[in-house]
Amino acid sequence: MLYLTATLQSLFSTLRQSLKKPTTVEYPKVVRPRAPRLRASFALTKDAAGDENCIGCKKCEKVCPSEVIALTTVKKPSPITGKSRGYASDFTLNLQGCIICELCVQVCPTDAIVMVQDQEKPGFSREDLVLTMDKLYDNGEKKLRLSWANASVLAEHQNPERKHA
Ligand code: SF4
Ligand code: SF4
Repeated sequence: MLYLTATLQSLFSTLRQSLKKPTTVEYPKVVRPRAPRLRASFALTKDAAGDENCIGCKKCEKVCPSEVIALTTVKKPSPITGKSRGYASDFTLNLQGCIICELCVQVCPTDAIVMVQDQEKPGFSREDLVLTMDKLYDNGEKKLRLSWANASVLAEHQNPERKHA
């Protein structure tokens, strides 16, 4: 009798739970609103004319406490203006060691590197977590949801009197 009562109680409890509104959503079909400051991945940006904003100054590489950014640079004429300027010839960011501190974004003088709220797809190897230059520019062109700030916004947030240089 005791066994039957416990079984009925369990069944009733299961039935009651199954009639309740679910507390979870079917990600990625449904994406809940995210906090404005959520930072998940990165993108490299281009200007309105399509020229790469990165000038290859290496500030992001130098400031990164986890040393997960690596870039090589080249000086060459801009395909848009024809003027000689610096570019990144290769740029990688290894998400495995990134602590999402946002310092690389903060020091960028041209707002070239930004953080996005969209997570990268899970990978099957360590290499899948390395963002290549192509992937970073691809993220910039995919119109992903940007995190709350780029370097200019961060500089003004810290010191409203001083514009980012
Ligand atoms: S967020 Fe921080 S740890 Fe991650 S790449 Fe940028 S500087 Fe490095
Ligand atoms: S992303 Fe910004 S900080 Fe990094 S090398 Fe390019 S211009 Fe410099």
